[in-house]
Amino acid sequence: MTQTAQLDWPDGLPYSTAFGDVYFSRDSGLEETRHVFVDNNRLPERFAALQANQVFTIGETGFGTGLNFLCAWQSFRRHAPADARLSFVTVEKFPLAAADLKRALALWPDLAREADELCARYTAPPSGWHRFVLDQGRVCLTLIVGDAVQCLPQIDARIDAWFLDGFAPAKNPDMWSDMLFGAMAQLSAPGASFATFTSAGFVRRGLQQAGFAVEKVAGYGSKREMSRGVFQGNGTPPAWQAPWFAYPRLPADAERRAVVVGGGVAGAASARSLANRGWQVTLIERHPTLAREGSGNVQGILYARLSAHGTPLTQLVLAGYRYSLMLLQQWFADQPQAWSQTGVLQLPVDDDERQKQQALLASGLAGDWIEWLNREAASQRAGIELPQGGLFFPHAGWLHPPALARALCEHPNIEIRTDTSVLELSRSESEGQWIVCGESGAMALGTVVVLAGAADSAAFDSTSHLPLKRIRGQVTHLPATADSQVLRTVLCHEGYIAPALQGMHTLGASFKFNVDHLQLTAEEHQENLDMLLAMAPALHHATHADTLDITRLGGRAAWRCTSPDYLPLIGPVVPLRDFVRTYASLALDASHKPTTPAPWAPGLYVNTAHGSRGMITAPLSGEILAAQIEGEPAPLSSALMQALHPNRFAWRRLIRGKIDPAE
Ligand code: SAM
Repeated sequence: MTQTAQLDWPDGLPYSTAFGDVYFSRDSGLEETRHVFVDNNRLPERFAALQANQVFTIGETGFGTGLNFLCAWQSFRRHAPADARLSFVTVEKFPLAAADLKRALALWPDLAREADELCARYTAPPSGWHRFVLDQGRVCLTLIVGDAVQCLPQIDARIDAWFLDGFAPAKNPDMWSDMLFGAMAQLSAPGASFATFTSAGFVRRGLQQAGFAVEKVAGYGSKREMSRGVFQGNGTPPAWQAPWFAYPRLPADAERRAVVVGGGVAGAASARSLANRGWQVTLIERHPTLAREGSGNVQGILYARLSAHGTPLTQLVLAGYRYSLMLLQQWFADQPQAWSQTGVLQLPVDDDERQKQQALLASGLAGDWIEWLNREAASQRAGIELPQGGLFFPHAGWLHPPALARALCEHPNIEIRTDTSVLELSRSESEGQWIVCGESGAMALGTVVVLAGAADSAAFDSTSHLPLKRIRGQVTHLPATADSQVLRTVLCHEGYIAPALQGMHTLGASFKFNVDHLQLTAEEHQENLDMLLAMAPALHHATHADTLDITRLGGRAAWRCTSPDYLPLIGPVVPLRDFVRTYASLALDASHKPTTPAPWAPGLYVNTAHGSRGMITAPLSGEILAAQIEGEPAPLSSALMQALHPNRFAWRRLIRGKIDPAE
């Protein structure tokens, strides 16, 4: 359960009542940070020496008010070349409430530019991993809400400089433990530096033991001494890691040119995250405009079904939910046709779900992102009489998915080609490029190809084994009436209904496995209306649903794409034949630990199977993929990244004896 920081403000400065310590020096927090963390990690000169497209990675223990982060960002802006990037990974157990963060950062007018941008995106996040994209993509902040010792081993990164900024060691020994220093050593790039305000002997000895050369230097203000140092080791050799769950590195001189196939939200997000990193991207879409298939509904819902058990899916949804909210607020705050933050009310379908909702609330997993509304409060919130209460997501709502896809693609590095179908991928080994072919032959070249075309991502030789399922869904465009216009929030049950937009509610969506066409059917309109009756009889009545001619109702049918474990597939692929040939020994002994690198289809990635949660998982998927391609810190824990790896299915089939290696 996440607890937000409990603060006092003596003399207007933030003070932790739980730890009995200040967040920064009373002399001048800003100058202290510049001295201790920025200068003693030699950041200005290291930033200035960065090459084009190089990423500098800072790791921090204790995000607190974000002051250190903002100072590093400001120094980066002043000293680094325009095409270098900063990745800042920080762990915080007790995140500040948004109002406290704003109040603390208002102390530093010199940082106003950075602080304003951060504050505009920051809401106190619940536990888990949270990605912020700042400075037009030049700066990535990964804020991990959790205990530092537990979270550090889940980070997949090479840290160039460390900021050790727990509260004073005597008051907060957990943040200065040998376990933490050991985890730092695992993550440190050769020659990584660290700096900290403390010169406590056990901290210095612990860091030395972990492989850092440590020196005491002059501290800031009233603090006589502080510590800094440099990592001497090459990192302890990591424990064995499954090579099929790794991420292949592109050759250092690889041309930064990518082709993304599919113009839905997943493809657009992939294109944007690469474009932000200086890639030239060609996005190919077979329809005349973006977002014409699964991302094509008029109203898509930010629908976050969460489990109290913090399953991988729940972790992904929490991270994606905050990320999508951040983009929507940033781009569409004043565009009610594109994003409407009406809140989403999840009405339980049965007792079992009601109990699960209560368990979720009790777990505190989603922090103040959810609240329970009883029947009366829920009805009031919805503006219409409801038969029961439910779980309310006050920050969620509906969005117009095509608008999000278009906004993601608005970047000078992205070229969109519509009305164009990709039929074949071939590879020029000598050029290290994929040749993307359509009806009239080769049409685009890329070092990287991202297949983001839902179930059609499996239409190529190297990906044909991916277990992608299509599930048809039909939404009904239900004409609004004067009485139904009062609906003020999205309602979810077996399906959902959104508040009226331009005289129409989106009501849906059916769930059909064995239908292979996309024509509208009266039968599925009826199913949607029956679902509305079970969910909100008063709304059913208000829309005269009983007397509608369902054969004349409008709507839209599309395929959802899902995987057998309902998690998306985001990452590099190995053709099945090559996988089986390389790791045949696993079929005989699943505990075998081969070290042979996976025979990747070089530069080929998929980003698909977002199911009916695409508005939550697809925007973040671009960051996940780009981190893999660039070898940057991932926006999610290592365990979760592995849970999304496309190779999980080939591996599972092999160890379960479902593939005969001799075939
Ligand atoms: N770097 C911060 C800034 O720029 O404002 C100040 C950090 S403050 C001195 C120490 C931070 O460590 C607090 O925000 C506190 O909540 C956090 N913290 C304390 N114990 C922790 C733990 N076990 N894991 C992660 N964070 C912790």
